[in-house]
Amino acid sequence: MKDINFKTVFNDIFIELQPLENKGVAASYIPELAKIDPDKLGIHLVHVDKGNFYQGDSQERFSIQSISKVFSLTLAMRIIGSELWSRVGVEPSGTAFNSLIQLEVENGIPRNPFINAGAIVICDVLMSYLDNPKVDLLNFVRKIANNQNLQYNEKVAESEKLTSDRNKALIYLMRDFGNIHNDVDEVLDLYFYLCSIEMNCCELAHSFMFLVTGGVDLTSGEMIVNPSQAKRINAVMQLCGFYDEAGEFAFKVGLPGKSGVGGGIVALHPGKYAVAVWSPRLNKKGNSYMGMKVLELLTTKMEDSIF
Ligand code: GLN
Repeated sequence: MKDINFKTVFNDIFIELQPLENKGVAASYIPELAKIDPDKLGIHLVHVDKGNFYQGDSQERFSIQSISKVFSLTLAMRIIGSELWSRVGVEPSGTAFNSLIQLEVENGIPRNPFINAGAIVICDVLMSYLDNPKVDLLNFVRKIANNQNLQYNEKVAESEKLTSDRNKALIYLMRDFGNIHNDVDEVLDLYFYLCSIEMNCCELAHSFMFLVTGGVDLTSGEMIVNPSQAKRINAVMQLCGFYDEAGEFAFKVGLPGKSGVGGGIVALHPGKYAVAVWSPRLNKKGNSYMGMKVLELLTTKMEDSIF
């Protein structure tokens, strides 16, 4: 990596991308998300040696949506280890995040834990092992974020419940194949709450640092996952973090990462840094239009991706 002044680079990127600020459309299929100001733009980067750098709306919380699927996967791996991989695959889907197509031909086993179907199966696994799934899951996210103030947004969760035909179709199809073991409404409830967690860019970047360090929480020194599990989570993010745009993200940004329809993206460079971006307007694949561009310019200007 070049010896870089992140503050100057963030400034340059924000100026360079100004002409594109109206591109894309914020998600409206979850009515509560449509209320967010689509023009927000924030970034926060945590570097293991150089510290914190940020710009724009980096302190404002938003709905992290599918970014939370990294947390649920991490917790499920901690609980049942490799057994998990008989319930969900690790292959890129090449289809939309809420697609039903592959489930029918692949016996109800979702391609990976980051598409909706895969995350719903992970929630089913968590339901089977946790005493108080909603409370325990939120407490786990609070622990890896080192932040006891994180909350679900109940309005967002309930809003999503009202428009959940697609996710219901996914779970019923999987149950028919024997891949859902708990009550469908309870599993979906946990899934919607998982998606509704709110964090800001600063909190998100910090909460992904255990994947930068090979599994270790930098604050407590505790091992969240072992180095092999950290490698695997990063590998799944690299291949599946952006649904049918995973190739494009690797091609342009060159880091493992995860997006959400709230407009957030987290990406990381193992051993170096984690970075979170937020811009609610999405491209056609459901990933933040501006977020992708910001990260593309960042790794290009830093001359530093994993490739
Ligand atoms: N909660 C959203 C859904 O189930 C998550 C989708 C996403 O962020 N890609 O549709």
